[in-house]
Amino acid sequence: MLVDIKELRERNEPLFIETDFGDQELKLRSHIMALQRPVRSELRVSLSGGQVLVVGEVQADLQVVCCRCLKPFPHRIRKGFEVEYWPDPALEAEGEEFGLTYTDLVIGFYRKDRLDVSAVISEQIVLEMPMKPVCQEACKGLCDQCGADLNEGNCNCQRRSVDPRLAVLLDVKKRLSKEK
Ligand SMILES: [Zn+2]
Ligand SMILES: [Zn+2]
Repeated sequence: MLVDIKELRERNEPLFIETDFGDQELKLRSHIMALQRPVRSELRVSLSGGQVLVVGEVQADLQVVCCRCLKPFPHRIRKGFEVEYWPDPALEAEGEEFGLTYTDLVIGFYRKDRLDVSAVISEQIVLEMPMKPVCQEACKGLCDQCGADLNEGNCNCQRRSVDPRLAVLLDVKKRLSKEK
């Protein structure tokens, strides 16, 4: 979904957008997350000089994969945000395909007088994603030997509680003390 900045300038008043975004538009699909339902968003897009100010709210219900036990679990995002977009002169000159590039959280760039609203929303969702999502803090994960889900009970594998590199050292130490 694109906002034409030239049109916005001619209009001379803020644009209110209330839309739902599906998987296709947001391109969030990855092995660790999927949408449970379309993402709701409410945005106010306004201009001040060449800068575009987007103030909005996002409501997303995701299905995220736990990085320990690999089971999907629901992850809910409710957030308000405010981002300023500046025309990107370097990219304008190159005449590349429009898109957004970010230098930090609050300032982005738009190209060719177009702001891609779906990209704005995708970025806000990605920013809210935990680096290592876990279904619960206490998730025990999978056994690194047989792959059993340790949340459902213990398996019969021997726990390797000691780091193998440390085990070698402990062994050497044991032998040394015996030699004395
Ligand atoms: Zn888990
Ligand atoms: Zn096991």
